[in-house]
Amino acid sequence: MSALEVVDVDRIHGRGNSAVHALRGMSIQVERGELVAVMGPSGSGKSTLLNLAGGLDRATAGSVRVDGVELGELSPKELAKLRRHRVGYVFQDFNLMPSLTAAENVALPLEFDGLRPRDARRVAEEALAEVSLRDLADRLPEDMSGGQQQRVAIARAIVGDRTLILADEPTGALDSETGEQVMRLLRERCARGVAALLVTHDAGHAAWADRIVFLRDGAAVDDTGTRPRVESLLTEA
Ligand code: ADP
Ligand code: MG
Repeated sequence: MSALEVVDVDRIHGRGNSAVHALRGMSIQVERGELVAVMGPSGSGKSTLLNLAGGLDRATAGSVRVDGVELGELSPKELAKLRRHRVGYVFQDFNLMPSLTAAENVALPLEFDGLRPRDARRVAEEALAEVSLRDLADRLPEDMSGGQQQRVAIARAIVGDRTLILADEPTGALDSETGEQVMRLLRERCARGVAALLVTHDAGHAAWADRIVFLRDGAAVDDTGTRPRVESLLTEA
């Protein structure tokens, strides 16, 4: 069973004259252990694809399955539960709660799930240790560098037993060395059986992926990209 299976998906925003076809006939499959990069010009549907895969948005037509579960058949409540248990999201702007420490940010989804605070704290510390941040567990986001904040966001995304990590330009706000570090972390998680879908504009970061999928106008155009192809798509963006 694939970690993520998107089959012939359309996503239309709005109606009538203002309707925007963000995805049309989009299909993609990601297996456990696989890191797949998604590239394409601005507006080509990359974020829409990740939002559908993470259950943050619903397809207009077609099928989205996470771990074999058809998301279109889930109630909003079931969808929220699946998001907390199976899917980890990493955004470009980290999205940490500013008034919570690193450990509290990572522990939050676990506490939502009813884990006792003390147990949530222990699991959060383990996740922070995996991204080499155990020493900063009690620090607030504003007292951390961008790279450290992004590593906290990754710890939050991997905490528990997630099968799918969705990362939407997670290295966009980072310097190149920190960006490489974030890529290495994603790669390591995949080596341990997680599936990851990564949106990036950086060909060097996409090179960490097993596969690159190119989007244009809401559909995959090429699955076997070469570097010149990557660059021509990026310069059109
Ligand atoms: P990308 O991440 O590749 O830049 P997006 O998935 O964000 O692309 O957007 C794809 C298309 O869908 C764009 O034309 C965008 O303007 C449109 N779009 C995305 N979200 C919405 C929305 N909530 N309402 C209307 N149009 C949207
Ligand atoms: Mg986007």
